[in-house]
Amino acid sequence: MSGPMFADIIVDISHEKLDRTFQYLVPENLQKNIRIGSVVQIPFGRSNRATKGYVVGLSEQAQFDPGRTKEVGALLTDMAQLSGEDRLVALAAWMRDTYGSTMIQALRTVIPVRKRMEKRVQKSIALKMDSVQAKESLAIFCRKNQRARVRLLTALLEEQEIPYELVTGKLNISLATIRALEEQQILEIRSRSVYRNPLDAGKLSRQGERNVTLNEEQRRTVEGIWREWQETHRRVSLIYGVTGSGKTEVYMELIARTIEQGKQAIVLIPEIALTYQTVMRFYHRFGDRISIIHSRLSAGERYDQFERAARGEIDVMIGPRSALFIPFPRLGVIIMDEEHEPSYQSETMPRYHTREVAIRRAELEDARVILGSATPSLEAYSRALRGEYGLYKLERRARSSALPQVEITDMREELRRGNRSILSEELQKKMETALQKKRQIMLFLNRRGYSGFLSCRSCGHVICCPHCDVSLSVHRGSRLICHYCGHEEPRPSKCPSCGSELLSGFGIGTEQVEETVKTYFPQARVLRMDMDTTRKKDGHEKILSAFANHEADILIGTQMIVKGHDFPEVTLVGILAADISLHASDYRASERTFQLLTQAAGRAGRGEHAGEVVIQTYDPEHYAVQAAASQDYDRFYEEEISYRMLGGYPPDRQMLSVHGSCLQEIHLQTAMEYLRRFAQKISEKREIQIFGPAPESIAKLQDAYRMVLYLKARKRQSLIEMKNLLEKYIEINDGYKTVNIQFDMND
Ligand code: ADP
Ligand code: ZN
Ligand code: ZN
Repeated sequence: MSGPMFADIIVDISHEKLDRTFQYLVPENLQKNIRIGSVVQIPFGRSNRATKGYVVGLSEQAQFDPGRTKEVGALLTDMAQLSGEDRLVALAAWMRDTYGSTMIQALRTVIPVRKRMEKRVQKSIALKMDSVQAKESLAIFCRKNQRARVRLLTALLEEQEIPYELVTGKLNISLATIRALEEQQILEIRSRSVYRNPLDAGKLSRQGERNVTLNEEQRRTVEGIWREWQETHRRVSLIYGVTGSGKTEVYMELIARTIEQGKQAIVLIPEIALTYQTVMRFYHRFGDRISIIHSRLSAGERYDQFERAARGEIDVMIGPRSALFIPFPRLGVIIMDEEHEPSYQSETMPRYHTREVAIRRAELEDARVILGSATPSLEAYSRALRGEYGLYKLERRARSSALPQVEITDMREELRRGNRSILSEELQKKMETALQKKRQIMLFLNRRGYSGFLSCRSCGHVICCPHCDVSLSVHRGSRLICHYCGHEEPRPSKCPSCGSELLSGFGIGTEQVEETVKTYFPQARVLRMDMDTTRKKDGHEKILSAFANHEADILIGTQMIVKGHDFPEVTLVGILAADISLHASDYRASERTFQLLTQAAGRAGRGEHAGEVVIQTYDPEHYAVQAAASQDYDRFYEEEISYRMLGGYPPDRQMLSVHGSCLQEIHLQTAMEYLRRFAQKISEKREIQIFGPAPESIAKLQDAYRMVLYLKARKRQSLIEMKNLLEKYIEINDGYKTVNIQFDMND
């Protein structure tokens, strides 16, 4: 570039107002190497103090008088010189580049805690004089019959220091008394700032849990991964271990060794699996050196966990995808449990995938990554097969001898035989036996991308949301609700289209399953876990612990009950409507179905008693259902990968989706069409295929119309370049002012 170049620079990223940038001139010799995300040295303030800054934008236009704009001093490029925070900024820059967002959005994701929170203060009262003097004072108070003073001083003589709340509470001492003794120099009030700790130490205990000795497979995995870490450059290992094979024990052993080397570990788990049970296992092994972070913590609690990590006061941080950005001083390993889970895909800009960002962070910090799953994503498994990741298999369960027996029942056959119930005869029989033996049962209702809607039996009209292109769901029998925008209306008695009264609900919900179960098995104790019953804080935890304590015989739920729970008394799992998720409209529908069915089936027979599973389906021949029933991941993988290759989908190809939304339909169509033409022009020499634009599967949401354009290529880099050009095109064209465009890589 020949003309002048300007950089927008953030000086202090620990500042609340991240968007406060300063413009600097980039000297010619730095123009070639400076990037968004670069760390630079700049003269700052009146005194032109040399200060570190981060480049968040580059342009050719000066905001102010270019003659008076200061110059960037130097570019700091040596990784070894960069602090942990600098590396997180570099990570943000990489995310911005890969997934498309502003640098500010990326920084907000990576350094989420901006606002300085006040420390929590703990007050106490302490004795200020030696015990001889104190006893003299005590004698005086006794003689004067000053009972409160006697009570307080006696307690202080015993304890030396007492928490403030205890003094005013249990000892019932007034503020006036405390003040009086403070003035007499008998005691002092101390305050100490402490970190908020989300783990309630009173509730947790390190006792009671047995220590396990790793079995042969687990040992081989630990030693194999450990050897690779010491000897090779391979950074990522995939542990493919069947449900209940003891992956967590393997993680913990590798974490313990990492800590011994003075390094720290991040353990990522899907938010819904972050239960008391999981935390307990880590606490039992590592005690107060662990902490957790998740969305239900208060801002203060979250802030303090970042502080504790940065200061090296903890070694292990457990949490969902946002825990990936914990600023440990010497990050040693990132573990990603249930690596295949959809919740690892971010829904907000930048729409990153946790697996990719974890690996990138590990590269920047010279750390390692472990991916674990019983149903690995196609992306991870194909890379492992190619040797890009180390591959370790745990093929046996750690506690019980066998995987559960799985049976498929064909619901079309049930109908033909006149059984119109939600429960097949087979499942009913097995439930009866299990209940007689006092075992526990889980009924899993597959409702991914699906909800019970209302339709007219005469004309086929389906009642839809007026703001979104989706059907309304029947709720508690009498209301209709849109799960996307919250629109609510009473259930009509007549069809709004033809006036017929033959309106009926389609499909089933968890409430209906519960009713059915109660009529068949009136003596059984039933718990239901869904959006309704878990809305309250801890609702989720309460249901799970009640079930774990065998306070109920049957647990009914949606996908939230399949994640990572370990209930040894469950011997029977029933999967209702197994195939519904097959009909979702994305290329991952079969993969998601296979994962859900396998994980749900994996809940059965984890303890001493053998497990049984009944999969109820209308599509018994489908390979995802068949492979899940035989618990055969490799078979599923073979079928699915060849389908992906045929269709040109990831992981065979890379795919960039460009989502557009706008309140005016015509305007959106034009805007998307122009994007396609622009993409067409630049795609010719890049071997990028273009599909669409087409309406999204939900073509209207909250009154905005939605369309999507797909771009496919062999190389990720060509799509990133394409995205950058599209971003520029959108930025300079006024036609996109009212159109919201978002990019999605492989999702
Ligand atoms: P996964 O995460 O692979 O589903 P877990 O780590 O939850 O499996 O282990 C399943 C159960 O087996 C847990 O109750 C765990 O305590 C137990 N377990 C794991 N490894 C061993 C072992 N080596 N010996 C005995 N029990 C084990
Ligand atoms: Zn009708
Ligand atoms: Zn709606």
